[in-house]
Amino acid sequence: MGLVGFKCSKASRKHDRERFVSFKECIACAETTINECHFTAPIIKAMVQREKEEREGITVTQLSGCLRESYLSYKYDYYADLEQLYFAFRGELAHLIIERYQEEDSIAEQRFYREYNGIRISGKPDIILPAKKLIRDYKTAKEVPRFSYPFRNHTQQVNLYAWLVPYEIDRLQVIYLDMKGVKICDAPIWSKREIEEVLEKKLPVLDKAFKDNIVPPADFENWQCNGWCNVKSICRELYEKELIERLSVS
Ligand code: SF4
Repeated sequence: MGLVGFKCSKASRKHDRERFVSFKECIACAETTINECHFTAPIIKAMVQREKEEREGITVTQLSGCLRESYLSYKYDYYADLEQLYFAFRGELAHLIIERYQEEDSIAEQRFYREYNGIRISGKPDIILPAKKLIRDYKTAKEVPRFSYPFRNHTQQVNLYAWLVPYEIDRLQVIYLDMKGVKICDAPIWSKREIEEVLEKKLPVLDKAFKDNIVPPADFENWQCNGWCNVKSICRELYEKELIERLSVS
């Protein structure tokens, strides 16, 4: 279950955009080197590899986005836009370079685990500098934020990392990279209570979803709904059914 292939990205034939191809077909097409889209086989292979990374427990990333998306993209087969995944892949490229030049005492891309109310959570902060009590997370963006603080979901993500890791942390930074420059945004440190509020609100919903297949409610105000959701069509289809069910019992 999860991502099983791509929506064909041939630029010249619009109707092909709705053609679904398996990873194998997509890579084989790019390997001919006469594919019409602009993705090369190594780029596609790297994107597939990135998506197949094994994760155990509920992840901080899953908690930081739309819970319904986290559940549906785990439980259902879906096909993603290559362009959309490329954005995440570009972020990964930046991480690889940054990781290579990190300070010697830094901890880069290590997965940590912790339980809350018997539910296992995992997460992989980009960089931890234990001596400086600092966590840094890098984000590629179309445009770095105009303001000096991170987006709300990124603030939540780094605070959950601070809660997760076995180090004392008193500074959190989200570092945005766009095509023109870099911007370091300091995130406020949340109190233990604020973090627990997030965990208590979100964790049982996602845990129940994974264990008992109870689909989390739709949240169409979520930033992911705005062009960043790979399971939008599955979500809408379920939503229509949910509405019909609700109407039939009322
Ligand atoms: S369409 Fe919106 S509400 Fe539905 S799963 Fe995607 S992000 Fe969540």
